[in-house]
Amino acid sequence: MEKAIIIRYSEIHLKGKNRGYFEKLLKNNIKSALRGFDYTFTALHSRYLIENFDERETEAIEGKLAKVAGIHTYSRALVVESSLDNIVEAAKELCRGKKGTFKVATNRADKHFSPPSMEVSRIVGGKLLQAFYNDLKVSVSEPDFTLFADIREDGKTFVYIENIRGLGGMPVGSAGRGMLLISGGIDSPVAGYMMAKRGMKLDAVHYHSFPYTGEAAKEKVVELAKRVGEYNGGMNLYVVPFTAIQEAIHEKCHEEYMITMMRRFMMRIAERLAVRLGDQAIVTGESLGQVASQTIESMTSSNSVVKMPVLRPLVAFDKEDIIKISREIDTFHTSILPYEDCCTVFLPKFPVIRPNLKKVEEMEKALDVDKLIEDAIARIEKYEL
Ligand code: ATP
Ligand code: MG
Repeated sequence: MEKAIIIRYSEIHLKGKNRGYFEKLLKNNIKSALRGFDYTFTALHSRYLIENFDERETEAIEGKLAKVAGIHTYSRALVVESSLDNIVEAAKELCRGKKGTFKVATNRADKHFSPPSMEVSRIVGGKLLQAFYNDLKVSVSEPDFTLFADIREDGKTFVYIENIRGLGGMPVGSAGRGMLLISGGIDSPVAGYMMAKRGMKLDAVHYHSFPYTGEAAKEKVVELAKRVGEYNGGMNLYVVPFTAIQEAIHEKCHEEYMITMMRRFMMRIAERLAVRLGDQAIVTGESLGQVASQTIESMTSSNSVVKMPVLRPLVAFDKEDIIKISREIDTFHTSILPYEDCCTVFLPKFPVIRPNLKKVEEMEKALDVDKLIEDAIARIEKYEL
């Protein structure tokens, strides 16, 4: 009896002609997530099989799989030569120690196998009841768990209990490339995760206001980017010195326009970097109305300085729901560490809520926009995470 993990894809089967491409991407992403483990990998129809791994590493392997976008479900399975006796033995092994109600579901791809599926389910169920009569009862309508027997055409049967839900989404790399604006806050890591889960391969940019914000604030962003990167097959983070730009804005523009102006610089620099790296979109963690600077007018003002699409996956999310995801992806505790972020340093008391684009453009003429951007870009630091 061999231990195995069965992996099922999510929406890939919908992709018709592109299927081969998606499958190959997912396969490569799984292999790179499992780098460092010993195992064998087999591609079957609509699923992958991980076998011959050190059993003590099962949880570690599952932990990696849990972060691979495009996996719909996976199961721990026992693989046996197809025979009724073997299936019963495997079923007993899997049910040992379990309590509650169950049912058996059999799928017989091998039509030469006898008896037929219903009969297999009935017999295996009966044997389980006999073996564990104190602990198990059958419930066909609402079982606590289902024991699956998947009788394959190749003479092997997979016996497994539950389908552990995978991340879902699409394989990273299947939906283009994006540049994530990542702050030290709660929202942008979640935004990055969501785009990665939809298949977008991300780079990240962070604007750093040294010495107003210190090394610890930067380390926090590095840590967040690393965590988002786990869903993205790794991620490169570009840290851009932002202080000179902030000081110039502070000196030349009205205080209440500070954030509006900063956002426009952030967007422009992000786009230049994106073009250089082959990214096709900008991603931010903005959510409509969450703070004074996240109005439709503010978004219009920052969109107007770039040609690339600006994706805001959280635009219609409540904070509560964003926090929920940030806990699930384990960025929340890092996000709430109390370090200054570049935007709080120069934060105006009364930021303009509905910036008027004409006025903004007029005010910006006081700044040497290109020079400020070039100077910042020349001093970028790159982190490969
Ligand atoms: P977050 O929780 O992501 O910090 P927020 O609710 O604090 O978001 P803002 O501070 O208004 O919102 O920032 C809006 C978006 O602008 C962020 O989600 C992020 O994408 C981007 N952003 C803000 N500050 C920075 C920064 N220092 N470096 C890179 N991007 C930033
Ligand atoms: Mg923030």
